[in-house]
Amino acid sequence: MKRPDDIKDKIQAVRETYGRDLLILGHHYQRDAVLAHADERGDSLELARKAAARKEASRIVFCGVRFMAESADILTGPDQAVYMPEPAAGCPMARMADEMAMRQAWTRLNRARAGWLPVVYVNSTAEIKACCGEWGGSACTSSNAARVFEWAFRQDKRVFFLPDEHLGVNTACDLGVPDDQVAIYDPRQPQGGLDDETLRRARVVVWKGYCLVHAAFSPEHVREVRRRRPAAKIIVHPETPRPVVALADAHGSTSQIIAYVKNAAPGSEIVIGTEQNLVQRLADEERGRVTVLSLSPVICANMAKTHANTLLALLQEWPASHRVTVPEPVAAPARRALETMLSL
Ligand code: SF4
Repeated sequence: MKRPDDIKDKIQAVRETYGRDLLILGHHYQRDAVLAHADERGDSLELARKAAARKEASRIVFCGVRFMAESADILTGPDQAVYMPEPAAGCPMARMADEMAMRQAWTRLNRARAGWLPVVYVNSTAEIKACCGEWGGSACTSSNAARVFEWAFRQDKRVFFLPDEHLGVNTACDLGVPDDQVAIYDPRQPQGGLDDETLRRARVVVWKGYCLVHAAFSPEHVREVRRRRPAAKIIVHPETPRPVVALADAHGSTSQIIAYVKNAAPGSEIVIGTEQNLVQRLADEERGRVTVLSLSPVICANMAKTHANTLLALLQEWPASHRVTVPEPVAAPARRALETMLSL
């Protein structure tokens, strides 16, 4: 068995061979042993943009999950190849919306009334982004979802959001959309479980999908922290269900959570509801200045599939099965959805 130091040295040796031709990207939810080798770390969209900006890198390694590598492939040029150390690392939430079910839902909504615009979370498959681009919609991240919803509202449109119910509901609530104008479309129910009257009244329809990590946080976790640590501030990710967000002091995307901690006054105590690798890293970085704790330690099992040794194996062998390629007929409309978001 290889020792961690051997793996580290070997990865470093390969990196030196390739120089600027190789770009390794690491999502914030990756383990430290993987992130130690990343040229860039960030959330999914920041990383895809960094890949697109580094045009001289012909080999891009995405340490994250599949939809992130797909977005990187969509936004990079034809001479750039995107690989994943662990091609089986998918996102369960992204898989909760497939193209056929999305097309059925779109027909259902438009039969009830006209005037919809699709908004898709970047945490979705390339095919879902392609439908969105085809129908004139926009992608969004958890940082800019409110801005994209407002863009749709300014055009006097109603938003069809997928695949994360909780980000959709939280964004609608942040923008003051009344509860009775937000409807949940359940693709497992006939007609999405919605009657025509509900659809005619709705300003926002959200797909019934969820992130396994963030849906694990409950109001009881928040109440427990309030009992034990009354001085602590609690911040959660907006993929967390609304009842938890309502009890927390703040909610924000991964980058906003990092900024919240970095800007906190010395001596403060912050409890975070998001993926544990990020919480632990912030706790380590801030030790002695700010106390950072987890609302409940939850790991993303798919992000955890990537290890330093799978990264090394990829860099040594470059198997074709680890390359992520989005065919151009899908990539072109998906790119439109991403570029619309980037232009807003
Ligand atoms: S943390 Fe949630 S949204 Fe992110 S990859 Fe894991 S399951 Fe998907």
